[in-house]
Amino acid sequence: RRAQALETARAACRTRDGARIEALANLASPAEARLAVENFAEGCGLLRTEFLFLDRLSPPDEDEQAEQYQAVADALGARPLAIRTLDIGADKPAPYLALEREENPALGLRGLRVGLERRDLLEAQLRAILRVKARGPLQIMLPMVSFSDELAAARAMLDELRAAMGREEPVPLGVMVETPAAALIAGRLAEAADFFSIGTNDLAQYALAIDRGHPGLAGRLDPLHPAVLRLVAMTAEAGAARGRSVSVCGGAASDLAAAAVLVGLGVGRLSAAPARVPEIKAFIRTVTMEECREAARRALAAREAAEVRAIAREIWPHLD
Ligand code: PEP
Ligand code: MG
Repeated sequence: RRAQALETARAACRTRDGARIEALANLASPAEARLAVENFAEGCGLLRTEFLFLDRLSPPDEDEQAEQYQAVADALGARPLAIRTLDIGADKPAPYLALEREENPALGLRGLRVGLERRDLLEAQLRAILRVKARGPLQIMLPMVSFSDELAAARAMLDELRAAMGREEPVPLGVMVETPAAALIAGRLAEAADFFSIGTNDLAQYALAIDRGHPGLAGRLDPLHPAVLRLVAMTAEAGAARGRSVSVCGGAASDLAAAAVLVGLGVGRLSAAPARVPEIKAFIRTVTMEECREAARRALAAREAAEVRAIAREIWPHLD
């Protein structure tokens, strides 16, 4: 029994009927990359680079960053690595940014908006990423995009740096879909983005208008709310129409019922907390694509998240 469980954990993640669904890990340090590999993650679907930028008086320089990203890449070996550019704002302590205090940081200067305002920071980070020698596929993803011109500006910056550095192979540049706006214009973003990675934590926060840190409302902040799922479905359809891969790296990918519904909506890559990866893989192995699609179809027509969870339990009684 134990030997079989180990074999399942090691094997590539597939549904019972053989569809390939990648199970990756979200990371926030090189040490976590080793943990992910120990948990048989198939790569890193989200490297949160904030660990390098917070709680210090000056930003990390290009060399320091390159070294840290390289350490993550080395730990992952030939597995894929998606590095997210800085997602920081008035809510996080980075004194050197000298950001004005904001009444509502979630709606203010954060994510890619900071990088486009402080171009020196984003440029140093992109240069550091472009220096990484990865044995596996390397990707760059942009947090908190809601305007097409933000993607265009980041793409132009990346192209320019790559040309200046003489790095020949392009590095795929993707958009995190974390705002309703990004999901709603996913078709247009797909023209210039190489892939999508849906951040369900922020997407749910902005779609449901519930602060993700609000203690009293946390119970209502469920990414299985049909409104959030519709945004996911739009993104998945827009990605598929242009042949762009669509992944989910928010908390929903770590939640078994949600993961299966997301697969049914067309998500082919799940990036979860490292310790959750074995369980995600084991569960996906018990479901079929047809079941996932049925769950997704019914979920989109549901009234609320609790109903979606009931649908998932009906289709997969072993969820409990
Ligand atoms: C998300 O918003 O779902 C996400 C993955 O990014 P973070 O949790 O780092 O904001
Ligand atoms: Mg986010």
